[in-house]
Amino acid sequence: MFERSRRGFLVVFSAPSGAGKSTIVREVLRRRPVPGMGLSVSATTRPKRPGEVEGRDYYFLSEEEFRERMGRGEFVEWAKVHGHLYGTPKKAVEEALEEGKVLLLEIDVQGARQVRRTFPDSVLVFVAPPSLEVLEERLRARGRDPEEEVRRRLEAAPRELSEAGSYNYIVVNGDLEEAVRAVEAILIAEYHRARRFKGVSMR
Ligand code: ADP
Ligand code: 5GP
Repeated sequence: MFERSRRGFLVVFSAPSGAGKSTIVREVLRRRPVPGMGLSVSATTRPKRPGEVEGRDYYFLSEEEFRERMGRGEFVEWAKVHGHLYGTPKKAVEEALEEGKVLLLEIDVQGARQVRRTFPDSVLVFVAPPSLEVLEERLRARGRDPEEEVRRRLEAAPRELSEAGSYNYIVVNGDLEEAVRAVEAILIAEYHRARRFKGVSMR
C-alpha cells in the first residue's frame, strides 16, 4: 500500500559547463538506483550539434516558436544561457509528478531557482569541478565547443559556482565513479524520505 502512494519529485542538476553533469546523469540513469527514474528533455533555440537527436537531447525550436510556447505558459522554467533560450516543458513534469516518478532535470542556476520556488519538494544537486583549471582542461578535452565558446563558458563559471551554497547537495566531480556513487546515494536517501509518501501522517 505504501508503494502505490508515492509522490513524484524533481531532482535538479546544475554545474558550470564542462564539470561533468551530463556524464554523471547519464551513468546514474543507466544504473537506476531507484525505480521510476526519467530524464526531462528541454526545449532550446540553440542550433543542433552533430549527433544530437530531436526529442532525445532537446526539442529544437525557433526563437519565435519558443516565445509562443513561453507565452502559453508551457514551461515550468526558462532562462537565457550562453546566448540561447532553454526551457523545461511543463507537461512532462506534471505527468512525472502525477505518476510518482523521479524526474531528473539538467538545467542552469537561474532555472534551478525557479524550480525550487514552484516545486519546493525538489532536490537540488550542484556538480562542481575540483578546480577551475580542471574545468578548463575538461572543456578543451571534450573538443566540442569552438575556442570562443570555451572562453565564454569559463568566464561564466565563477558566477555559477557562487550559487552552489543554495543547493541541497554539492558533488565535487573529481573521480567519476565516486561522484556517480554520491549521486546514487542522494537519490536513494531522497526516495525514502517520509514526505514522499502520500497519506502518511507527519508530526
Ligand atoms: P557538462 O554536462 O557538465 O557540461 P560533460 O558531462 O559534457 O559536462 O563533461 C565534460 C567533459 O569532461 C567530457 O569530455 C567528459 O567525458 C569529461 N569528464 C566528466 N567527468 C569526468 C571526470 N570525473 N574525470 C575526468 N573527465 C571527466
Ligand atoms: P548545452 O547547450 O551545452 O546543452 O547546455 C548549456 C546550459 O544550458 C547547461 O548549463 C544546461 O544545464 C542548461 N540548460 C539545458 N536545458 C535547460 C533548461 O531547460 N532550462 C534551463 N534553465 N537551463 C537549461
